[in-house]
Amino acid sequence: MTDPVDAVADLPPLRTVIAENDLAARKSLGQNFLLDLNLTAKIARSAGDLSTGTVVEIGPGPGGLTRGLLGQGAERVVAVERDARCHVALAPLVTAAAGRLTLIDGDALDVDVTELGPAPIRIVANLPYNIATPLLIGWLKQADRIASMTLMFQKEVADRIVAAPGEKAFSRLSVLCNWRCDTRMVMTLPPQAFTPPPKVSSAVVSLIPKTPAPTACSMASLERVTQAAFGQRRKMLRGALKSITTDPEGLLSSVGIAATKRAEELTVSEFEALAKAME
Ligand code: SAM
Repeated sequence: MTDPVDAVADLPPLRTVIAENDLAARKSLGQNFLLDLNLTAKIARSAGDLSTGTVVEIGPGPGGLTRGLLGQGAERVVAVERDARCHVALAPLVTAAAGRLTLIDGDALDVDVTELGPAPIRIVANLPYNIATPLLIGWLKQADRIASMTLMFQKEVADRIVAAPGEKAFSRLSVLCNWRCDTRMVMTLPPQAFTPPPKVSSAVVSLIPKTPAPTACSMASLERVTQAAFGQRRKMLRGALKSITTDPEGLLSSVGIAATKRAEELTVSEFEALAKAME
């Protein structure tokens, strides 16, 4: 019997899979495919040990990253894809994976990834850029049941995810991500790494949910405070927070933050203290 790893490696090249299945990329589905298997193996490796629990992939497309995950020893990959053409194209990979790959036909925005298999749940994906941020925000809300996320975003979004206070990219997304996870930039990829190439560069980011989870405030109140503060980021906080409190100066002084500061100058802990004071 053929070794399943060899069976995956023996599949036709991805360009052949795409040609034979008429898998012309659809912009509406954020389809920018990775066809270099050395690169997809590298991304899979960056996700760490995949030999236990469940690896969830969003949008396997023609299966380049999926092959990488299987090649790196993922024991159980569950891939969610909403393009029916990809399900046909991926059928030989499902067979070659000999029980290690399950495809789910559906919209990732409607799927509870933490229900797709045994823990630990690790999400690894080259995300469709049009829904990447809402997907990430949803996963942050369930982060207590997620072991790690290794995700490709547009570089500009990746920069915001890992940004520290005071940096130009520091934003609402930076606060939410770094409050809940340890974040790290893994690698940057030029547009030419994809077929078709997107307009901008991309980057892989690692997010490891903190354990134990932070408990000082809820994510909902942190979302509220950061929305108000960064919604008017040029304003001093005493002005920007007027949309969520009648007494911004009182709120800020209760947690020892100068009312003249701007959102981009606060640390994640200061945002947490503000959110707590709002509860
Ligand atoms: N993983 C493949 C790769 O790296 O070559 C494809 C990545 S491509 C950027 C995004 C994939 O997500 C496409 O296959 C697309 O069909 C799929 N997709 C788009 N929207 C989706 C959704 N709402 N739910 C599930 N999959 C989706």
